[in-house]
Order: sequence, then C-alpha cells, then structure tokens
Amino acid sequence: MPRALITGITGQDGQHLAEFLNTKGYEVFGLVKGQANPKAELIQNEFPFVELVSGDLTDLPSLIKAVEHAQPDEVYNLGAVSFVAMSFTQAELTANVTGLGVLRMLDAVRIVGGHSGNRIRFYQASSSEMFGKVRETPQTELTPFHPRSPYGCAKVFGHDITVNYRESYDMYACSGILFNHEGPRRGLEFVTRKVSQAAARIKLGLQDSIVMGTLDSKRDWGYAGDYVKAMWLMLQQDEPDDYVVATGETHSVAEFVERAFAEVGISNWQDYVQQDPKFYRPAEVDLLIGDATKAREKLGWEPEVDFPTLVRLMVQNDLRIEAAKAGLR
Ligand code: NAP
Repeated sequence: MPRALITGITGQDGQHLAEFLNTKGYEVFGLVKGQANPKAELIQNEFPFVELVSGDLTDLPSLIKAVEHAQPDEVYNLGAVSFVAMSFTQAELTANVTGLGVLRMLDAVRIVGGHSGNRIRFYQASSSEMFGKVRETPQTELTPFHPRSPYGCAKVFGHDITVNYRESYDMYACSGILFNHEGPRRGLEFVTRKVSQAAARIKLGLQDSIVMGTLDSKRDWGYAGDYVKAMWLMLQQDEPDDYVVATGETHSVAEFVERAFAEVGISNWQDYVQQDPKFYRPAEVDLLIGDATKAREKLGWEPEVDFPTLVRLMVQNDLRIEAAKAGLR
C-alpha cells in the first residue's frame, strides 16, 4: 500500500487529494497545525481513513517527526498562508509559512529519506500568482515570474527552492504551477465562494447585497477535484518536472458573479453588488490564463468540469448549506 503525507489537509485541495488518494489505495497521513485545530474534527468525520499528524510548517523538528512517523512514499506540500489579501497584512508570516515552509519540508524529506531524499517523492503547490504582472499571454512553464503580492513572492521562493533541491540533491521534486481552482470546499474568504454564498443567501432572503473589490480581474478558473489528479500524475512519472495546470480559458470576476446570480434566477445582478475600494489590492493581477499543453501531452491530464458547471456546483452547494442553516428545508 503506497503511503502519502499531505500538508494542508484541512484546506480545499488537501480534502480533495485525500479523497482521491484513498480511491487509489493509499494510506493517507495529514499534517494539522495548532493545539486544538477546529478543522481536525471535520477531517476525522469526513475522511476517517486519514491519520492526522501534528506539525507546523514553521517548525522543522515537527516536520521531521511527521515524515518519520508517516514514512511516506509521496509528500504533497499544500500547506500555506494562501489568501492573497491576507499576505499584504501579514507579509512576514506569509514568507515564513508559504516560502520558508517549503524549504523546511524539503529538508525534512532529505533528513528522513536519506541525504538525497530521493526515496520520497515531493510535490510543491506553486501558483499562477507567481506570474502576477504577466510578461506573456498565455503563461507557460517558461514564462518569467513577476509576483504582485507577498503571497506571490513567497510562492516564487517555494518554486525556485524546489527546482534547486531537485537539481542539487537529485530529489524527485516537482512543482505544479496551478491556476485558480475552486469548488464547494473553497474557503469563504475567497472571491468565488464569497459570491456563490452571497447568491444563495440573497435568493433565500437571508442577505440584501454583496460588497466586492474589483470586478474586472480575469482568472483561469478550474475545478479543484480535477487539479489534484494532476498533482498525483506528476509524482507517477519516470522523471520529476514542473507543469502548468490550467483550463486555458479566462473569465472576469463580473462574469463569475453574473453566472452565480443567474443560477439562482436573478438576471439584474448589478442591483445587488456594491464595490468598495477597501477590497482592492495594493498591486493587482489583471489577467491570468494558462497554457497546460505540457501537462496534457506528458501527463495525459485534462480538466473535466467546465466553467458553467463549476459555478453551478458551488451555488447549488451553498443553497443547500444556507437553507439548512436557516431551517428552510
Ligand atoms: P487553503 O484551503 O487555504 O488551505 C491551506 C492549508 O494550509 C490549510 O490546511 C491550513 O491549515 C494550512 N496551513 C496554513 N498555515 C500552516 C502552517 N503554519 N503549518 C501547516 N499548515 C498550515 O488552500 P488550498 O486552496 O487548498 O490550496 C492548497 C495549496 O495550493 C496552497 O499552498 C495554495 O497556496 C496553493 N494554490 C492554490 C490555488 C487555488 O486556486 N486553490 C492555486 C494555486 C496554488 P489550517 O486550516 O489549520 O489553517
């Protein structure tokens, strides 16, 4: 039975990946931080096959212990301070967790897995936010980085150190440059989920309006369930490499709002949306669109859920949750 250790198990991707690896027959270990992490119970209830291990990406000894305990064949480093807006207000924490955390995890793998660490395969969750103020469109594995947030800067370090450890120590280490991916498990702080939840609550009469930042930014949005398959495929190849994972389509935030409201039967969505500059970022990323040709050709990866289906999945899920919370169904 192959063994996998996932950092960020309580996050959106950690949950999808745990579910996916379970269907592939893996023994799954998940790193949880904090002394009484409220999300640990959710993971134990929904995914009883996951063994939780205590640890924090800012604490190398805890990572070494976690890798020693799990004895993994594969490590998926998904843990991060991942909310771009928060990275501006807590930049040092972001650099420590999202950037240096990758270095610590790689070292834990090397220390436990032998000097080269190449017994254990390593996946790093890199991000399209590294492209930031894009130098070319669409973005590929060869597009230069120009991050526009402390989060993007930390991810560039995480990406570069993963490539450096692969080249220096012959590790099987891959970096997946994933474009935005969403779904019903997305955190409520992220714009897509904020919109799907608001559309559901407005439809149910539980909320009057939604306050947004910019509506013009364009993103390449896919479904998280599709993207975790790409992570796994990267670790099943003969040679480690880096891959862009994206749909190749881009949509504005306004388009996402329009579709979400249409899903609940509201066509005049502008009447419910207010904009407040407090939600603008100090430096914006205007347009992201990925070219995943390499992942398609080398990994045989294809996204299955398209944009309209993704929005529908999220809104329908929030309708169920909000109606149940309000005792309406
Ligand atoms: P998420 O839902 O925000 O989950 C982040 C995870 O990191 C949570 O489990 C969180 O634990 C954990 N974490 C935070 N600080 C930690 C620390 N100090 N030590 C250990 N764990 C810590 O993120 P996601 O959407 O699943 O994304 C997974 C990864 O992919 C992240 O690295 C993200 O930056 C990257 N990524 C995501 C996207 C996307 O569109 N979703 C795109 C590209 C890259 P708690 O729950 O306990 O806080």
